[in-house]
Amino acid sequence: MGQARGNITIDIEECKGCGLCVECCPPKCLELAPELSRYGAHPARYSGEGCTGCGICFYCCPEPGAIIVYRLAPLKAVAAQGGDHATAL
Ligand code: SF4
Ligand code: SF4
Repeated sequence: MGQARGNITIDIEECKGCGLCVECCPPKCLELAPELSRYGAHPARYSGEGCTGCGICFYCCPEPGAIIVYRLAPLKAVAAQGGDHATAL
């Protein structure tokens, strides 16, 4: 597998476990955790690979602040420009 193009973080304090992001993620790299959060929900989690940084999960999530999507610049371009590797949506 090549360099990852995206990454996400999910705040389990904000996630209500509705599963919309799991359904809408094109590469199917999200899942609902078997563990319960302290709100009694199964929070979404990232499988750890395959995210393209498309942002669809961010736009379909009904809970503001639950998901942050990072688009990762190619490492060669970052090295050439001296910029940041990750840009949040
Ligand atoms: S940004 Fe796109 S690929 Fe990444 S987890 Fe969200 S929906 Fe899936
Ligand atoms: S769409 Fe938002 S609230 Fe629903 S499971 Fe995904 S992160 Fe949680």
